[in-house]
Parts: sequence; structure tokens; C-alpha cells
Amino acid sequence: MPIKRKLMVIVMATTTAALIVAGAGVVWFDSLVFRDYLQRDLSVLGRIIADASAAALAFDDPKTAAETLAALQARTHLRSACIYRIEGPLFASYARSGEAVKCPQAAPADRVRWTPDELMVARTIRLQDRELGTLAFFYDLDEIGRRRNSYSAIVLCVLVASGFLAFLLSSRLRAVIATPIAQLVNATSAVSRTKDYSIRARKLSADELGVLADAVNDMLAGIQSRDRELREALADREQALNDARNARDSLATTLASIGDAVISTDAEGRILFLNPVAESLMRWPAAEAVGKPIEDVFRIVNEYTRETVESPVRRVLREGAIVGLANSTMLLARDGTEIPIDDSGAPIRDRDGTILGTVLVFRDVTARRRAEETSHLLAAIVESSDEAIISANLNGIVMSWNRGAERIFGYSAEEMIGRSISVMAPPGRVDEMIAILARIRSGERIEELQTLRRARHGGLVNVSLTVSPLRDASGAVVGVSKIARDITERVRSAERLALLNADLQRSNQRLASSNEDLERFAFIASHDLQEPLRMITTYSQLLARNYPDALDGNAGMCVRNIMESAQRMRELIADLLAYTEITARQDEPVEAVDLNGVVEKAMQNLKASIDETGAVVTCDPLPSLTAREAHFLPLFQNLIGNAIKYRGEQPPRIHISARDVEGQLQFSVKDNGIGIDPQYHERIFVAFKRLHGKKIPGTGIGLAICQRVLERYGGRIWVESQVGEGATFLFTLPDMAAQKARRA
Ligand code: ADP
Repeated sequence: MPIKRKLMVIVMATTTAALIVAGAGVVWFDSLVFRDYLQRDLSVLGRIIADASAAALAFDDPKTAAETLAALQARTHLRSACIYRIEGPLFASYARSGEAVKCPQAAPADRVRWTPDELMVARTIRLQDRELGTLAFFYDLDEIGRRRNSYSAIVLCVLVASGFLAFLLSSRLRAVIATPIAQLVNATSAVSRTKDYSIRARKLSADELGVLADAVNDMLAGIQSRDRELREALADREQALNDARNARDSLATTLASIGDAVISTDAEGRILFLNPVAESLMRWPAAEAVGKPIEDVFRIVNEYTRETVESPVRRVLREGAIVGLANSTMLLARDGTEIPIDDSGAPIRDRDGTILGTVLVFRDVTARRRAEETSHLLAAIVESSDEAIISANLNGIVMSWNRGAERIFGYSAEEMIGRSISVMAPPGRVDEMIAILARIRSGERIEELQTLRRARHGGLVNVSLTVSPLRDASGAVVGVSKIARDITERVRSAERLALLNADLQRSNQRLASSNEDLERFAFIASHDLQEPLRMITTYSQLLARNYPDALDGNAGMCVRNIMESAQRMRELIADLLAYTEITARQDEPVEAVDLNGVVEKAMQNLKASIDETGAVVTCDPLPSLTAREAHFLPLFQNLIGNAIKYRGEQPPRIHISARDVEGQLQFSVKDNGIGIDPQYHERIFVAFKRLHGKKIPGTGIGLAICQRVLERYGGRIWVESQVGEGATFLFTLPDMAAQKARRA
């Protein structure tokens, strides 16, 4: 409800209420006054009537009494009047015209009695102080009601009239209050709507509303300046927030991208943040680690004692200072992996210096440790090297000089570092050094350059130089690394070796020619010995056959011995010839030799002994070779023959096979004979070496022939055997021969 209406209602309600109260008061007061008046009036009237009717009573004249009572006719509201004798009975009565007498039987005891519709007033009738009777009036109280109604009607009329007047006046006068209030309301609602605190209320009067308008305006001015300050403060705060946000973002990006692991904790040592490097080193996802006490996640032990190391976070919180870890700290990751780390912790303080938390930074130092170890190792290697290891810049100024260099050139590191390397150039070799530097500058590397350098004492040192460019991280050549080996001794040895070599070559030539002579001699000797030997055999046989009687027991035995020795000598000569023939005639043409056919021939040659001993010879398919059959036939024949000769209790079983082993053809001849003690495995290939004496015939040359054949073809032969377990003779040939044969 608008305030002007409220004002109207208030004025009207107040006026109406005042009028009603006033009207009711008037009516009530009038009624009180009227009752009092009525009672007194009736008392006075009663006295008059009592006095007037005393004589009639005294003279017992009811008629006069009734006439006296009839005078009451004028009082229209008096219903009845009754006169009683002193003794009690009714003496005379009066009733309003048209109504019946309503006198009680006996005189009423009360003097005055009010009932809602009637007033009774009784008076004693006296005559000269003698009581004669009682007079009672019964008055109808309708008059009071009618009177009240009239008064009420008047009050209502006054109410309406004054209400109307009040309405007219208040509708004129309310503007005095309502307009300034409306002004204030408009101003304040405009402010609240537009938030424009520069709006002011108009002051229309100097009363309380004027004061209120001033107060509102003052308040608005205050709010306006507060608002301005607030806006400025808000802008500042926004700026600060933005700055903080930017700082936080850039910090988060920095923390996420740096190579070190970072953890921050609160003042209780609970994890607030960890960056991705920390997550991956500790194998703890940030989501799980955040909120946990630092010791649950960041577990560290001493690498050597294995004792748990106190978390640096606790030390920082206790001591309030930056702390670093001992060198040998080992981080135990969640999966049990151990990682050597290097770390430090620092407190995070607010402006007042109160510790809000800590920040822990650590890194995996495995690679650094390895690098340090490697660099120590390299330094140790360089220091302990016998060779001179020197580095210099591109101007030839020495930067490092190891012990080897001190030893070879006689200069100490202190003498040489910072000095030009040219002090070591012997006369006439300065240009060589300059040329080397120029090649290094262009990125070339010089290897094994044999040259001379001058040592401290002035003597010359033969050196083998390897010079390489030293490059920086960008690959640019920034210096020279030189490794110089003192080869003075080697040069001398080489010279001595060259002399010895020349000597050796000469002796070799002599040996080869004497060998040739020997071979030729052996060949000729064996060849030429055959003829006289044949004569000896022939004549001994003739002697034994033609003169059996002339030869007594001893002579016969002598002749038989001559024949046996001659036979043995023939075999020896034949074997010797075969042995010398293998190396002879090197230039003879080779041919494709089918080894299956060769084995076949060898078996035919050995048929008699095979049949005699019941030997079983089996053979895998063998390849063909580009070779000479005359070499391979004795090879197989000797091996198969030996396998039969050196048989055991069982009939001989011989198996020949061939296979490819690492690019070479490997043959084997395996038997089930008596076997060979391993201590003789090499010696049996020496010519004339025999293990079984004369019990088993042989010359001791068979295996030497085999070895010679294989040497000629670039192969080798050996035996695998144990006594009593048979023997396997193995020999190899370069596959090349077989290849050639296949191509052929
Ligand atoms: P020999 O003419 O004596 O057989 P070899 O040179 O062929 O001469 O053999 C040398 C020695 O090697 C033989 O005396 C023998 O003791 C031993 N020998 C060779 N082959 C075999 C074999 N298959 N089993 C056992 N011993 C063997």
C-alpha cells in the first residue's frame, strides 16, 4: 500500500476512532446523567405525590388518592403508580392509559430498584411524622433506549461529516509528507536499480524528512566513495588474482617441465603436490600420494648402511632452514627399485616468516654418478697410460699433459701446460706440426703417423702419433688430442727383425734347396735302390729254390732272413717313394676325382685282408674333388688298411663319412679296433713312428703320407680314440676344392 494511502487510512482511522470514542462517551455519559436525573426526578415526584395523597390516606379516601395519581398522566413513561396502606394492601393505583394496572400485592421492600426495562421508586407516605402508607412508581425505561439511539444517530452524522472533512483535509495535506518520502523512495530505488551512487534525493523541506533526505544523500555519498574504493580494490584484487593465476600457471608449467622431481608439503609434512618427474621416480601417482605423510611416499636409505634416513622435510620443519642430503642417499621407489638421488629441502614461509610447508627437490643421479665414475676411470686410464696423451688448443698451446707424456718427453705437466707444443719439434719438423694443426682444424684425423719428436734432454724420440680434433657440444673443432706412442724400441726391434728376416729368408732358401736336394736324393735313392734290391731278392730266391740241399739249417735260415729283409726293404722303399712323390711334381694337372670311386679302388687293393678278416666297410656318399687320385688313393687305403690291421677281437667294422663343418669338408674313418692311447695321438703321424712293433707288419710311413697329402691340399688330419674303444681318423679339406669339382 502506498504511503499516501496509508497516511489517509491512518488519518481516517484516527479521526473515526476519536469520534467513535467521543460519541460513545457522550452517549454513555448522557445515559448516566439521565438515569441519575430520572431517579431524583421520580423521588421528587414521589414526595410530591406522597404529600398530596397523605390526606387521602389519612381520611381513607381512595378516590382522592386515585385522582392525585391521575395527575401523573403527563408523564408518558410512567407505567404505573401504586399506593399501599401502612398495613400492606393496595389503596389506590394508576396505570398509563391503555395499559392494565400492574401493582404488586404488597408494597415493595426496596426504595429504588433498577431492572433492564423498568425503574421502581418507592416512598413512604407520612403525615406529620406518622407513616400512613407507601407510594411506588413503575417507570418504563424505553426512554433511555430511545434517547441513546437518538444520540447515536447524531454521533454517526457527526462521524460522517467529520470523516468527510478529514478525508478532504488529509488528501490535501498528505502531500506535505508523502511527496518528500516519494522523492526519497524514487532516489533510493533508482540507486538500487542502476547502482549509480551519484544519484541524490531532492530535499523538499527542512523537517525530519529534509534531515532524512540529507542523511540519505550523505549515506549515498559515503557509499559512492566506498563503492569507488571497493571497485578500485576489486580491480587491484582481480589484477593480483590474475598475476597469481599466471604465476601459478607458469610455476605449474615450470614444475611439470623441469627435469628435477619436486614435492611440496604442508607444515605437518603431508604431501600437497608432486610433479610428473617425482611421480615417475617414486612410481607414485600424484592422485594417490597427495595427502599422505611424506615418509609413506618418499622413502630413503643410506646406500651403504641401509639405515633409513630421516626425511629432509622433517629436518626443514624442525630446523626451519634449507637442508641438503648426504651423497649416498638411495630412494626406494614404490616397486622396490633403488635410485641414487641428490636432494635438498627448503621451508615455504609466509610474509611473517611462519613456515607454511616445505618444498623438496631431488634428482636421479645414476647417470651423473656413472658419468663421474667414467670420467674418473678415463682420467685414471689417461694418467696410467704408457702412451703420451696430450691435449692442446688450436694454437698449439698445451692444455693437458699426462704421466706418459712426462715419461716419454721428460717435461713435467707444470712445465708444459700453457706452453706451445712446438718446443717438441725437432729441427726441420716445425712445418709438419703446423700442417698437422691445419688438418685438425679442418676436422681431419691423423692415425699412426710415425715421426720424430724432441725430448727435454734434446734427444729424439720415435713416436707413432694419432691426432684427433676435439669438438665442443655444437661439433665445432676447439682443440687437438694427441696420443703419442714411444716406438723407439719398436723401430729398433723392427730394424733388428728386418735383419733377422733377411737372414731367415736366406736360410729358408738354403733349407728349401737342401730339402729339394734331399727329396730328390731320397727319390733317386729309393728308385735306384729298387734295382739292386730286386737282384738280391731274385738271387736269394734262386739260391733257396735251386740249392735247397746245399744249404744246411743255418744257411737256409740266413737265406730266408735275406729274403724277408729284402721284402721289408722293398716295402719301405715303396712307401718312401710314395711319400716323396706327394710333394714332387707340383705342376701336374689336377682332375675331378670321385672319392666314392677312390674308396672303391682302395677296398679292391685291400680285398685279400678284407676277406681274410671278414671286415665290413661301409661308406656314405662322398663328394668329388678337384685333386689328384694318386694322392687320395693312398690316403684312404692307409686309413682303411690300418683299421683292418689294428683290429680287436671282433671282425673289423669300418665306416667312412663326410660332412660340411663351418665351410670345410670333414671326413671320418671310424673303426672298432684296439684304439690309441691319447698320449700318442700326435706322434703317430711322424714318419716311421709305430706303436706295435713287429707283431703287426708296417713301415710307420702310412699316416705320415696321409698328413702330407692333406698339408698339400690345405687340410689337416687328427685322431680321436681311447685304448680299446676303436679309433676315428678325421681330416678336413677346404670346401673350395669340392666347389671347384662341383662346378667342373
Ligand atoms: P704302420 O705302417 O705301422 O701302420 P702307420 O703310419 O700307418 O704305420 O701307423 C703308425 C702307427 O699308428 C701304427 O704303427 C699303429 O700303432 C698306429 N695306428 C695307425 N692306425 C691305427 C688304427 N686304426 N688303430 C690303432 N692304431 C693305429
